[in-house]
Amino acid sequence: MKPNKRPPHHGSHEHERHGLRYFFKDMILGFFGRLLYIVSLVWEAKRSILFVLALLCLLDGVLPVVGAYIGAELLNRLGLAITGQLQSFTQILYPLIALFLHQFFNKITSRISQMTTRIAGELVSNHIRLKIICKARNVDLGSFDRPEFYEKLENANREAGHRPIQILSATFSVVSAAISVVSFIVILAGLHPGAPLLILVMALPGAIINYIYRRKTFLYMRHRSKDRRQMNYYAAVMTNKDMVKEVRLMGLSDTFIGKFKTVFARYYAGIQRLILHEGFWHMAISLATVLANAVLFVYVAHQVAYGPLQLGDYSLYTGALNSIVSYVNTLVTMTATIYEGTLFIDNMMTFMREEETIIPSIAAPVTPTRGHHTIEFRDVCFAYPGTEHNVLDHINLHLESGQITVLVGLNGAGKTTLIKLLTRLYDPTSGVILLDGRDIREYDVKELYKIFGIVFQDFGKYAVSVRENIAFGDVERGIEEEAIRTAARESAAAEFIEALPEGYDTPLMRYFEENGTELSIGQWQKLSVARAFYKKSDILILDEPTASLDPLAEQEVFNQFSRLGDDKITIFVSHRLSSATVADQVVVLEYGKIIECGNHRALMKQKGKYHRLFTTQASRYLDEDDKENE
Ligand code: ADP
Repeated sequence: MKPNKRPPHHGSHEHERHGLRYFFKDMILGFFGRLLYIVSLVWEAKRSILFVLALLCLLDGVLPVVGAYIGAELLNRLGLAITGQLQSFTQILYPLIALFLHQFFNKITSRISQMTTRIAGELVSNHIRLKIICKARNVDLGSFDRPEFYEKLENANREAGHRPIQILSATFSVVSAAISVVSFIVILAGLHPGAPLLILVMALPGAIINYIYRRKTFLYMRHRSKDRRQMNYYAAVMTNKDMVKEVRLMGLSDTFIGKFKTVFARYYAGIQRLILHEGFWHMAISLATVLANAVLFVYVAHQVAYGPLQLGDYSLYTGALNSIVSYVNTLVTMTATIYEGTLFIDNMMTFMREEETIIPSIAAPVTPTRGHHTIEFRDVCFAYPGTEHNVLDHINLHLESGQITVLVGLNGAGKTTLIKLLTRLYDPTSGVILLDGRDIREYDVKELYKIFGIVFQDFGKYAVSVRENIAFGDVERGIEEEAIRTAARESAAAEFIEALPEGYDTPLMRYFEENGTELSIGQWQKLSVARAFYKKSDILILDEPTASLDPLAEQEVFNQFSRLGDDKITIFVSHRLSSATVADQVVVLEYGKIIECGNHRALMKQKGKYHRLFTTQASRYLDEDDKENE
């Protein structure tokens, strides 16, 4: 059993957002938990990056302080030179050389730091994309039906690529800024013990505002995540090749652009308010900071003019002051960035925790034996995840190798859903499906999938060559030229393939290749049938080819199915009842229930729904024949 680590639902945090417990549990522990997760992501991507960045961050922290001392020393010696107290010019030359070496070293480290961060960015974002794709490979099909799953996926995809490396470099910047700040505070304390305290106190309100607004922004973005998904959807409708035809002809462009603008306006109003409010707060606070700075600057100048300080000390102390202000600023913005980033990484963490349920129900899953099979639906009910309505209602059905079963029923009767349950893309809500007398949940899922050769209603179209489109049917088999051609012949695809400019080598779709070929929907369907035939399957399923195949082609495919399916379980989902006449078993579905079951002759005798459907269709064909004869 997998531990149940499903994260609490978004809303469950909200009422608890205030209070000490929340502060420690969510903010502090959560923050470090997420930070650790990010470090582990970078560690997985490339370990050496962490070491290099850590080293650079130490150097980054120390170098400014060294620079300040060198600068001050140089000024002091120049001051001595002005008053004629210097013995030789080399005394000025040494700090000058140190200054240039320092500059050079600074440049080199910042270059190396940039290089490392860019390389790390590429590696880490790619690593994370891969992680998301690999996770998506195992996620239940049912998860894709839930809007909140899409939200997680979208959030993870959008943020997870660039956030981790941003957070990591921000974390290192924080460490180096902290080193610098502490060093400069020690220097400044030499001026007056109260000075660093004053500066730090002045920095506090800015920090608080920063955190408050980072959190507000995050909550707002999460709240408005649906808006962004809607905008992406409207943009996709306008730019998606398959949709463009209808959108143009029906004059829907303006409608979708209008919707896009409305949603953006709603999103923008909120984010604009947040940005402006934060900006105003910071402006007000900076006034106070400038005043505190001014007091200290005047004090230092006074100490140089009338007190014990030298010229170089002025540069050292005012430099320290400026540095503390700027590094504290870095500290605040960077920690806020880290904080915000870690909140976003939460999206990825929850996505990665999405649990699979389509897994074997027993510890040692079974591999199906190949060859002859029986399938039994026992009192199977099913409602799609997140819905109450039973799309399949107490289904009992028996299927056996060598048998052809035709599923008929009006649109929405539940035929495709029945196939999805049989192939274990979903699990029944109640009842059980037995393969060779054993619950299909007890089989190894990958091994189970191997026995099905299936053509879905919304079959896949792959932007690869014709050959690969067929060979994808059985990846284990790889590319077997002769078998590919046989499958194409059997699915009636060979004819059009051979007429293509490069035959089986023709690249399909025009996404990537200039010479990519677009096929008609019927041709695509034949290819997908070829794909199913190419697979060494025991159970052949063809779901509703009527939409894309002409009656002749459908009949041809059906005949091939029957011939190839001699020793297989063959299931045909079809509107056209002509195929039902030769089936061993016709199953009539209505509103998720099996209302009639038997062969064509028996069902015709019953004079029920099947009889009505069949005679309606037959008379339509006869009418058409009559019209043609007239
Ligand atoms: P058929 O193949 O007989 O036309 P389906 O099995 O595709 O019918 O659909 C049966 C019912 O299930 C329909 O009412 C449809 O709206 C619903 N349905 C199909 N897919 C989903 C889904 N992913 N989530 C929720 N309901 C669905």
